[in-house]
Amino acid sequence: MDARGYIQVDEQLRTNVPGIWAMGDCNGRGAFTHTAYNDFEIVAANLLDAASGEPPRTVGDRIPAYALYTDPPLGRVGMNEAEARQSGRNVLVGMRPMTRVGRAVEKGETQGFMKILVDADSREILGAAVLGVGGDEVIHCILDAMYACAPYTVIQRAMHIHPTVSELIPTMLGELHPLAPAGPAAA
Ligand SMILES: Cc1cc2nc3c(=O)[nH]c(=O)nc-3n(C[C@H](O)[C@H](O)[C@H](O)COP(=O)(O)OP(=O)(O)OC[C@H]3O[C@@H](n4cnc5c(N)ncnc54)[C@H](O)[C@@H]3O)c2cc1C
Repeated sequence: MDARGYIQVDEQLRTNVPGIWAMGDCNGRGAFTHTAYNDFEIVAANLLDAASGEPPRTVGDRIPAYALYTDPPLGRVGMNEAEARQSGRNVLVGMRPMTRVGRAVEKGETQGFMKILVDADSREILGAAVLGVGGDEVIHCILDAMYACAPYTVIQRAMHIHPTVSELIPTMLGELHPLAPAGPAAA
């Protein structure tokens, strides 16, 4: 175990004891049901599909993602603003308040906003937050584009269905501006 009591594992979740793996909260690599289940998928794939010729699955392949079931809900993936600044990348940010999302207005649930961070040079999506009605579901359209390693322009040019919260993500990606340096209030 490490100093905090987590069982130490490698990228394939193997412990230092041959034939013993550690999955779930006990390995300190996640604290969610979805990370625990993904741990199982990684170990099962590497054990059962070893002859497939595919490269082994690793815990480092997954993109951090979670939701908070508040009202309105929050969906989060990848880097936040502070992490994007620390990465030293040339970062662009897009933001849209829920007061400017038709579906949120129609439902009378206009609290919150959505925000996305992209790398200006590689066009990679670095992270996003959707705090607002449906945010825990909407975030998956960004998460899957990140898994596909698609440049942000793929979503920007996609035609999304009206009237949904997700339909404003392409619009938000068309209104990017440089991420401001950290100020006293930045977190
Ligand atoms: C209140 C609460 C709300 C949460 N909400 C969410 C959520 O909304 N979304 C989300 O993704 N995650 C949520 N989580 C976190 C999620 O529950 C855990 O990350 C997930 O259950 C971890 O799975 P696990 O298999 O590692 O551990 P567990 O699900 O805790 O399973 C461990 C099992 O081992 C058993 N066990 C322990 N010791 C022994 C022993 N000596 N012998 C035999 N069996 C033993 C336990 O009884 C338990 O059944 C929440 C957690 C809490 C506490």
